[in-house]
Amino acid sequence: MTAEVIYGNELAQSLRDEMKEEVNELRSKGIIPGLTVVLIGDDPASKSYVKGKQKASDYVGVASELIELPAETTQEELLGLIDELNTKDSVHGILVQLPLPDHIDEQLVIEAISPDKDVDGFHPISIGRMMTGKDTFYPCTPYGIIKMLQSKQIEIEGKHAVIIGRSNIVGKPVGQLLLAENATVTYCHSRTKDMEKFIAMADILIVAVGKAHFVNGDHIKEGAVVIDVGVNRIEDGSLTGDVDFDSAAEKASFITPVPRGVGPMTITMLMHNTIKSAKKANGLL
Ligand code: NAP
Repeated sequence: MTAEVIYGNELAQSLRDEMKEEVNELRSKGIIPGLTVVLIGDDPASKSYVKGKQKASDYVGVASELIELPAETTQEELLGLIDELNTKDSVHGILVQLPLPDHIDEQLVIEAISPDKDVDGFHPISIGRMMTGKDTFYPCTPYGIIKMLQSKQIEIEGKHAVIIGRSNIVGKPVGQLLLAENATVTYCHSRTKDMEKFIAMADILIVAVGKAHFVNGDHIKEGAVVIDVGVNRIEDGSLTGDVDFDSAAEKASFITPVPRGVGPMTITMLMHNTIKSAKKANGLL
């Protein structure tokens, strides 16, 4: 079998086109969805992610504001800023770009953001609501993955989804969203024994480890759907995923590439969440 490639960039573009129309309509009613991104320090990867978010905001018509602060910003200063943003009506989404410098407690910062403006979906209240099937902001990467599966009418119900990686931002929440879609979910992580056994059982395999070509085609089940979340910079400077694309594509029915896969969907779902927040704030949802 040779897999059909799910290009996240193409799906992202069509969703962004729809969002642009929606935002135009909102703007005509005087509602301007607003996203504030806080960037601390000058980590090049973070800067490039933030740039992508601003570009997407400009495209769909979300008013985005970037607040850049020096690496030595104190935790108190950052918490003070978040308090201000929490009360500002023009701000519907607050995103503090992670990772933060070591002297700032990341969890404290996540919890300081009002759940009403938590467009990253990382606040414990957002996570709890997601886990209990209540309306909330879903974390952007997992939500983007679900959209990618749905875009190809890939059946989730009754399928065995195996997730490699259990981070709070990708692995754990994507498992919860798949569970909500009635998949049977298995999580693998660094202490999992005989991982090949689980890979071989996966109808849907999600790989979010952060190690280049961690999974290859050897153990993948014929016809499996393979979603590669990893973004790894290799020696020649290019980006590659956690999955060895060529060997996996020989076995899979669907596969996502890196780049042009999950990455563009993450930013797109951030736009979705920001628009949703603006609608909620204005009583439209
Ligand atoms: P993370 O927080 O570093 O988590 C990595 C996970 O992989 C952990 O749960 C870890 O297990 C597991 N792991 C590490 N080594 C393993 C091994 N040898 N066997 C099995 N599991 C192993 O990473 P993350 O934030 O989830 O990100 C994962 C990858 O996705 C990264 O490449 C990141 O850049 C990428 N990413 C992409 C997007 C996007 O939009 N495309 C968004 C977010 C992240 P333990 O828990 O046991 O340590």
